[in-house]
Amino acid sequence: MDILLVDDDAIDRETVKRALRNNASVTRLREVHSAEEGLKAVENDRFDVLLLDYRMPKVDGIEMVIELRGRPNLGETAIVMMSTSDDEVLALSCLQAGAQDFITKSEITAAKLQRSIIQAKKRFELEKKLYDSYCQVRELAEKDSLTGLSNRYHFEEALKVSISNNVRFQSNIALLLLDLDHFKNINDTYGHEMGDKLLKCVAKRINLCLRGNELFARLGGDEFAILITGLKYINDATAVAKRIIESLEAPIDIDGHTVQCGVSVGIAMHPHNADTAEELTKYADIAMYRAKKQGRNQLCYFEDAMQEQFSRCYQIETQLKSAVIQQDFELFYQPVINVQTKKIIGVEALIRWPNSSLNSTPDEFIPIAEQTYLIDKIGEWVLEKAIEQISDWQNKFNKSLTMAINVSAVQLGQASLLSTIKHLLNKYNVSAGSIVLEFTETALLNKDEASEQLINQLDELGCKLALDDFGTGFSSLSHLLNYPINIVKLDKSLLPTDSSEVRHLSIVKGLAAMASIIGLHIVAEGVETQFQCDLCDALNIDELQGYFFEKALPAKDIAQKWLMP
Ligand code: C2E
Ligand code: CA
Ligand code: CA
Repeated sequence: MDILLVDDDAIDRETVKRALRNNASVTRLREVHSAEEGLKAVENDRFDVLLLDYRMPKVDGIEMVIELRGRPNLGETAIVMMSTSDDEVLALSCLQAGAQDFITKSEITAAKLQRSIIQAKKRFELEKKLYDSYCQVRELAEKDSLTGLSNRYHFEEALKVSISNNVRFQSNIALLLLDLDHFKNINDTYGHEMGDKLLKCVAKRINLCLRGNELFARLGGDEFAILITGLKYINDATAVAKRIIESLEAPIDIDGHTVQCGVSVGIAMHPHNADTAEELTKYADIAMYRAKKQGRNQLCYFEDAMQEQFSRCYQIETQLKSAVIQQDFELFYQPVINVQTKKIIGVEALIRWPNSSLNSTPDEFIPIAEQTYLIDKIGEWVLEKAIEQISDWQNKFNKSLTMAINVSAVQLGQASLLSTIKHLLNKYNVSAGSIVLEFTETALLNKDEASEQLINQLDELGCKLALDDFGTGFSSLSHLLNYPINIVKLDKSLLPTDSSEVRHLSIVKGLAAMASIIGLHIVAEGVETQFQCDLCDALNIDELQGYFFEKALPAKDIAQKWLMP
């Protein structure tokens, strides 16, 4: 028997060792002086029995027992607790925490300790058996035996818990019900054994589409369910469903047969569609039947509005893909005006998608382009167009004009952004200082080391960096201080329409004061009225952008109206 003795008292350790000296069943006795060392010892080594002192500094014996019993397989070791006091209550709490026996130090003799060790070992073996069968029963109760996924019972319970938790957390929960298309045919044609194998394969493929924080269950037959919690946008559920549908489009090989098995997905959202688990399930089911009716490989939302939103996003995504290939975009330019001189100091490039039948504005299609990474190609096109244009204008009209270009968070994830910009500046002979790169706060929030480095490199290159939509996100000062930002663009929603909007007024005043104290340039966006123009002037915001001066226009109109002498 391998024994670990954990006691901080040297004399007590000596007593124990003496009692075990002539014990033939003890093959090894290791001693450590604290619970921390004890925990480390059992991590690296296996012991049959632990002789554990109750009273130790920092972590006491009971805490160590609790920690051990929380480990897989209950920590694998029987425990005899030793204490100087023979307090019954203490003895009981040691046993309750998971020790198998309790012995007072004053009564330690060779025989008593031997008996205690044997008893503890036996008891632990019994407890372990009980624990194993408990685990087995739980597994049977909660798992689907074919796929190893959660079963219907477990899923329904988890759904209820998630919904009741969400009352507090206020995020979205998506329930996806999945039903395989024409599974019955495969079962009937090739037999049940093949059907079972197919279900296993399908479960595996779907699992690969999940991030791991979703609950994935087989409800029975060819029906599966996925629970996604903590969703910010409805679209996040769409993405998962689409990945699943796509992953099942590839044929599956089973025992030399190639089968294809599509899937129909119905989605309902809490709290949007339903308050209770039962209702939510019913609605997801209805959505799933609608998806089935539409044919194979479809996904349907329960709510019409959601379905429409999904269909529109889907159309946009499809058409964007070909627009990217054909470079079917245009750049418009909106003047940035100096408030005192009323002269143009630069422009912001804003993308347009004129030939799309969907009449989609950038506010709609840019987020979709970001989700689908189409923004990488679009962004490159924008950079080239804009830099070419500023080169042309600087040569013809005014060397000091600046060009502001919106850069999305996704682009910041691309190391090639720096070299692309360098290359274009060279190609069109434009100085980096004429380029303003606009980032939103959310882009800076997801800062990983690479994008942080990229931002610093862009700064070193000499580009000006602007924080876009300031005042709509978190407006955290830390971005302004941590990044080499030169300009903040006050979001249009912050500008008050008249002097009665006291709160707006004070926010703008505050932000303007704050930005100027840390030496930042401020551009006010969305200036639509004389009042707003005067307000900015009064607050020493010297650069303005907005319909009051001009909307975004094609290059030749900008040249005609703003640049020609
Ligand atoms: P943004 O960067 O905040 O651009 C300003 C938006 O406000 C533009 O909308 C502009 O047309 C609009 N605007 C300008 N003056 C006024 C005004 O006085 N009143 C009002 N109500 N609106 C005004 P737009 O062009 O529809 O672009 C929307 C957003 O799409 C942009 O917001 C930007 O986030 C994104 N975007 C546009 N072009 C690009 C691009 O080339 N790349 C990337 N990544 N994003 C772009
Ligand atoms: Ca912008
Ligand atoms: Ca903006």
